[in-house]
Amino acid sequence: MPGTTPQPQTYLVTGGAGFIGSHLVEALLRRGDRVVVLDNFSSGRRANLAGVEGHPGLRVVQGSVLDELVVEDLVRQCDVVVHLAAAVGVRLIVEQPLASLTTNLRGCENVVEAAWRHRRAVLLTSSSEIYGKNSTGPLPEDADRILGSPSVVRWAYSTAKAVDEILLNAYHRERGLPTIIARLFNTVGPRQSAAYGMVIPRLARQAVAGHPLTVYGTGEQTRCFVHVADVVDALLRLLATPAAIGQTVNIGSSDEISIRRLADLVVAAAGSPSPIELIPYHEAYGSGFEDMHRRVPDTRRLRELTGWAPRRTLHDVLTAAIAEARAEAAAPVPQGQLVAS
Ligand code: UDP
Repeated sequence: MPGTTPQPQTYLVTGGAGFIGSHLVEALLRRGDRVVVLDNFSSGRRANLAGVEGHPGLRVVQGSVLDELVVEDLVRQCDVVVHLAAAVGVRLIVEQPLASLTTNLRGCENVVEAAWRHRRAVLLTSSSEIYGKNSTGPLPEDADRILGSPSVVRWAYSTAKAVDEILLNAYHRERGLPTIIARLFNTVGPRQSAAYGMVIPRLARQAVAGHPLTVYGTGEQTRCFVHVADVVDALLRLLATPAAIGQTVNIGSSDEISIRRLADLVVAAAGSPSPIELIPYHEAYGSGFEDMHRRVPDTRRLRELTGWAPRRTLHDVLTAAIAEARAEAAAPVPQGQLVAS
């Protein structure tokens, strides 16, 4: 398995130009590994890889995980596959349910089948959406999934990610393919676009612009936000841990905060005059939308396997988000690359 030998390896990172992917790519290159990025630049951006552009260990291929031939070819050339390419973000999956489903199901199937043909280890990033509306306390990996109707796109997305997990588990159990499933909870940090609905980049941009902060529902719903650098650290640790093979592991912070309180902190940290506006869910996401009241990970498994603990605080996260929002306001990203709210 990757990381168990000091030998540099070649990693295929699908979605490597995305928010989390680009941070992972940088970390792999920094420690001397080689990286092939496969990204179709739909939600990923070339600019996300600007810091490693021209690096001799990096190759960037513009293409889709839906293209079986490209996937086959790249998997063959690599030692380890990290499959991040997916349609993510509540807004994106609500607006493009069919494309999201296809990418998340067929894309994962293509990657895993190619990994099996070439006997490559695969790490899949899954999602806390797996737990659906289960809003009980900290959620361990074997917690029940509580879902509404599959006609609600959020639950369709949750189901697609669950099918991806089932696929990896089947390849591991029945065929011995080395697999790891990392379930990511709310991850934030530099380069997270506001375009796909994620709350912190949106609120930070609104505060910097002096616009009202859009808090959906009552704002009493809670989340735990983890810095992307801590997530990358967790992924690298999992990849280096033989006992993680065949496992499903939560990655997230245990620091729980309501969205209303989060908005207050953003306003204070930005020194912004913005008011806070409560917006009903149906206005934000259309009728029938369902949110989860509470989402807190139980990360004991990750800690026991790897010794991981997050090192950045919510304050670090908010400071960085506001700094990025200010930089962006000063030098707007070219049209089409970012949809500010
Ligand atoms: N949210 C909000 N205002 C926004 C965007 C999101 O109040 O402008 C809420 C959203 O309804 C959810 C929480 O913030 O309750 C986290 O949303 P996000 O989309 O970041 O992540 P997820 O819903 O996947 O936890």
